[in-house]
Amino acid sequence: MTIYNFSAGPAVLPKAVLEIAQSEMLDYKNSGMSVMELSHRSSLFEEIIQAAEGLLRELMAIPDNYKVLFLQGGASLQFTMVPLNLAQGKKALYVNTGSWSKKAISAAKALENVEVEVIASSEDKNHTYIPEMPEMVDQDAAYVHITTNNTIEGTAFAKIPSFGKVPVVADMSSNILANDYKVEDFGVIYAGAQKNIGPAGLTVVIIREDLLNQEAAFAPMLDYALQAKNNSLYNTPPTYSIYIAKLVFEWVKAQGGVAGITEKDQKKAQLLYDAIENSSLFTSPVEKASRSITNIPFVTGDEALDKAFNQGALAEGFENLKGHRSVGGMRASLYNAFPLEGVEALVAFMAKFEKENGGN
Ligand SMILES: *Cc1c(COP(=O)(O)O)cnc(C)c1O
Repeated sequence: MTIYNFSAGPAVLPKAVLEIAQSEMLDYKNSGMSVMELSHRSSLFEEIIQAAEGLLRELMAIPDNYKVLFLQGGASLQFTMVPLNLAQGKKALYVNTGSWSKKAISAAKALENVEVEVIASSEDKNHTYIPEMPEMVDQDAAYVHITTNNTIEGTAFAKIPSFGKVPVVADMSSNILANDYKVEDFGVIYAGAQKNIGPAGLTVVIIREDLLNQEAAFAPMLDYALQAKNNSLYNTPPTYSIYIAKLVFEWVKAQGGVAGITEKDQKKAQLLYDAIENSSLFTSPVEKASRSITNIPFVTGDEALDKAFNQGALAEGFENLKGHRSVGGMRASLYNAFPLEGVEALVAFMAKFEKENGGN
């Protein structure tokens, strides 16, 4: 049976990437060692990390005045590192679009020296839409934090808002390399790797250089400037995750880069949204203009039917379709590596299920 992995993260990786990793597992480039066994100071690993950075710069057209950091601690550590490095003694503005935004807000609030203000929220409608942004924000604020794609709720920013001279900081964990956003529109972009980049354990941070020269953080490992000065090699980085990320970046490039990937992602999402629109059983809880092409929740409106659907889906090889516990129902995560055939198979299964369960 073919397994289709709809997991929200850690998520499906390109099979071609896993095959290369397999072929190089025991002997990387005639070194007689696995990548996992290489010193992070060796020339072989240096080539890997430099290639990874170069490819990411090329794919995202990252301007020269931005640093790329390969860190650990997940997107969740960035919830703390961002205010710690950028907002000491200042006000930090947040847009609350769901569960991950809320965690970012709590982390900033936990810092004594940072004043937090939520400038827009979609809480009134259970985060089923992206709210309007205020026309003016405090121009002395350190940044405005947004979550470009809300992994749990299935919403995404179609356009990146601008706030005058206040930089936008974005948690792009679930739609990095899957949209036409411009790096110039952000002060900081961060993403946990385990959705569109590679294995868990690696966090990518892209930061504009002028934001680096802030007060030093109290702990060296949490200091962007120090990490940048050491080219992400202040301590041992997650070497194997960086190696897989490099292979994924090469794969993205071979797919026509981000533009090629986005086109495929849009096609996959359209197929599923059309099936939901044309169904008399399944609905999307998300407002149309705010829909994510990456994480797509849907429900029948009947918990027992949702449960039956999820059980039936599992038996067909559709893994991890069950919705997040806060939303219920189903959620299909269609990350870059998720194949179109998997969406076609899901849509066919949905039609069959609907027929068998009183739909028309
Ligand atoms: C998955 C996710 C996170 C959490 O990432 P960790 O790497 O587990 O800390 C944060 N934000 C968004 C938008 C996510 O999708």
